Amino acid sequence: MSEQPENRRTVTMEKIVALSKRRGFVFPGSDIYGGLANTWDFGPLGVELRNNIKQLWWQTLVQRRRDMVGLDAGILMHPHVWEASEHVVNFNDPLVDCKTCKARFRADTLLEDKLGMEDAATRTPEEMSAIIKDANLACPNCGNRTLTDARQFNMMFSTTIGPVSETSTKVYLRPETAQGMFVQYKNILATSRQKVPFGVGQIGKAFRNEITPGNFVFRVLEFEQMEIEYFVTPEDAPAQFESWLASMQEWVDLIGLKPEHVRVREHAAEELSHYSDRTVDYEYLFPGSMGWKELYGLANRTDFDLRQHQEHSGVDLSYFDQAANARYLPYVIEPTFGVDRTFLTVLLDAYDEEETTDVNGKPETRVVLRISPRLAPFKAAVLPLAKKPELTAVARDLFDQLQDATGVLIDYDETSNIGKRYRRQDEIGTPFCFTVDFDSLADGAVTVRDRDSMSQERIAISEASVYLAGRIQ
Ligand code: ATP
Repeated sequence: MSEQPENRRTVTMEKIVALSKRRGFVFPGSDIYGGLANTWDFGPLGVELRNNIKQLWWQTLVQRRRDMVGLDAGILMHPHVWEASEHVVNFNDPLVDCKTCKARFRADTLLEDKLGMEDAATRTPEEMSAIIKDANLACPNCGNRTLTDARQFNMMFSTTIGPVSETSTKVYLRPETAQGMFVQYKNILATSRQKVPFGVGQIGKAFRNEITPGNFVFRVLEFEQMEIEYFVTPEDAPAQFESWLASMQEWVDLIGLKPEHVRVREHAAEELSHYSDRTVDYEYLFPGSMGWKELYGLANRTDFDLRQHQEHSGVDLSYFDQAANARYLPYVIEPTFGVDRTFLTVLLDAYDEEETTDVNGKPETRVVLRISPRLAPFKAAVLPLAKKPELTAVARDLFDQLQDATGVLIDYDETSNIGKRYRRQDEIGTPFCFTVDFDSLADGAVTVRDRDSMSQERIAISEASVYLAGRIQ
């Protein structure tokens, strides 16, 4: 049985979906047309959070490492790429239909309760069909015992290049960013002066025709990956794997996920993908019935991809080690991170509710996103206590000062009462609010309110940008 430990957090997926829509993090895709199932658009705050996640990842794992370089490859690639990578034959999920209600399920997910996640993932479609039949399993949607046999379903989206169907070329929307890095590996080597061990990092969109998308942005059809292909000698691969496992943990700590909500799961030998020698997942404890699910993955892809591309393209992809006077195909360690799952777990982990009182002393529930200041959409908000010209003039100056000096995104809000404005900033995770009041006109100081403790202190306006810069890194 898959482990579902006690989960008494206040956060639920429903609360995050509602907050995301209410505050402009995530909107249902094509909303005015009634939506398109499992597509989402990231709103004004969502795009900032995503950009902050991607920027922090890029800086930490690509720019600040001397053994890493970046790439931005196309979504469309030569169709032979997906034959060489074996996605055309192997990128399948076993699919089961219900003949009565027409609902579709992943056969392995259907069997998870019966067999456990690891065992279910290793069964062939024939075995799964036999188990479904023997157990006379009911459709989870309508309850009828009318499930079909499991059959393989390729998850790549395809389209065509060219105006006329007879002469057009069938191409795929990439289901992972990884292949771009293998295909460009030789050009990167030739131009970057890197030597093994070295890695290539990439952030970009990937597309998968998932059979059972859902759980908000956890499993979607169009998503974004932050991936690294790290090229090593075959002998060094196990040690580099361990080293990347540690680096992934550092990333998890950096974005502020609570240690008790993250665990590492080693894949059993039968569960490994066709290219992998060893795979470990970082799993996150999602609220409610979702439980532990994959957040990130780390795989030792061996020399599978370079060997395949060498064979299919006819181009020599071997690496010559001058010092050792040896030629070989490097092994590849692949740490892979989903942007959307990072986004979701950052929101889930940061969400908190607190019983408190409003400005008039009435009890109320304060919703606060205790998000890391590095990732918060706005690092600070400037709030004139009242919409009076003498206050708004000072507040606008302070807004300019903060934005110019720190280069980060600052919010400015002069609408509604101050209590409501604080609550709004709490809900969107703004770490600091600077309030300009009538005393500010005389003493040149403002009140800074801390999101987490709600404590307030008075600081000189001239010190505000230094104060902020020191607290958001
Ligand atoms: P799962 O078992 O959940 O389908 P996977 O093992 O197929 O995931 P990988 O192929 O390892 O996933 O993809 C790398 C990362 O991309 C995942 O760790 C996850 O963060 C993200 N990812 C994969 N599929 C999706 C999806 N459909 N929607 C959102 N993110 C995804």
